[in-house]
Amino acid sequence: MKIFINPGHCVGSDSGAVGYGLTEAEVALNISKRVSHYLAAVGYTTKVFQYDGLEEIVDVSNYWDADLFISDGYKFKEEL
Ligand SMILES: [Zn+2]
Repeated sequence: MKIFINPGHCVGSDSGAVGYGLTEAEVALNISKRVSHYLAAVGYTTKVFQYDGLEEIVDVSNYWDADLFISDGYKFKEEL
């Protein structure tokens, strides 16, 4: 099974939510890479792709012939 993971937003051009000195784009990319690593370790073929254009993301996923698409996004609670 081929699993495509799209971390939300795009580091460097679209931060997404911001809080605690972090951006959603950075957190999503970091966690997506970890999830990819774990899925690969149990035998899945994975691809992590972050970009700021939804149409391009879908095109890459379809061209890669993904069986499963995971969209990875986060919100920040108000800082304490
Ligand atoms: Zn977001």
